[in-house]
Amino acid sequence: MRMRPTRHSALAPVMEVFASVQGEGAFVGEPQVFVRLRGCPLRCRWCDTPASWSLDASQAARIDAKDGARREPAVASAFQAAIWVSQCEPGAPRTVSLTGGEPLMWPEFASALKRMIAPRRLHLETAGAHPRALERVLATIDHVSLDLKPHFDMLAPVPLATTASEHASRSFDELEHDDGSRPDGELRPDDEPSPTTHEQWSAARRACLALVAGRDAAGKIVVCGDRAAGDYAQLFDEIEEIAPGLPVYLTPATPMGGAQAPSHALVDEVAEMARDRELRVRIVPQLHRLVRRP
Ligand code: SF4
Repeated sequence: MRMRPTRHSALAPVMEVFASVQGEGAFVGEPQVFVRLRGCPLRCRWCDTPASWSLDASQAARIDAKDGARREPAVASAFQAAIWVSQCEPGAPRTVSLTGGEPLMWPEFASALKRMIAPRRLHLETAGAHPRALERVLATIDHVSLDLKPHFDMLAPVPLATTASEHASRSFDELEHDDGSRPDGELRPDDEPSPTTHEQWSAARRACLALVAGRDAAGKIVVCGDRAAGDYAQLFDEIEEIAPGLPVYLTPATPMGGAQAPSHALVDEVAEMARDRELRVRIVPQLHRLVRRP
């Protein structure tokens, strides 16, 4: 019997696979292998990987294998990505960090990747904007690094198209009555809407916090220089209420895209707000920038 294709794709557009050290969060400094996927509908002011936004599957993936970097077709199965992981490991198997872009655009790929790289750990780095997709992959993820994004640092999201050619060749009526059937092997991002308003962002954060509460997870907050400490109060209120045991990592913003580096005083003040709520807070600069790693 031929299986009916799933609504979402188990393929994903891979931007790069490489070995480096984890630069942020609970596993900072750990040698890992990174699988970076293309596609992000969000627009953070401080984004340091805008090249990952586009779903341009025509661009080749960069595989930084131990015998030299090379280019491969970007659209890949989890099985193919697992082979690339093993080719990039300089020694013993490493934890794999699935990053982006927003890897939750490809939940089926994420779950399949865990099966392919076992017994390695799979860590997920997510913007925390798509709780429905997070819930679907959670059972297969060993650690969630959850961004806690304040809405005021987000520009309007830009929905991902499926593929430009698909949109060009299908009428609006076809798209509207789409039942999810696709030929095998077609690239298809998740269709969960991204939050846009203050209320929607709060709802998404709260739902993601509820999902990771009590699990192997950590929260990350980027602190920008042109903000007041009080701007971050709501984030801490939500953590205290929903996931009080979640370790929280404050990352001073790297100046780019209109975001300014914060003063030491501002970072300290934000940290004290977390400590006032008895949260487990750490201040960790982006290590990979200090040691000039990708
Ligand atoms: S979620 Fe990540 S990739 Fe997307 S805009 Fe924000 S920092 Fe950039």
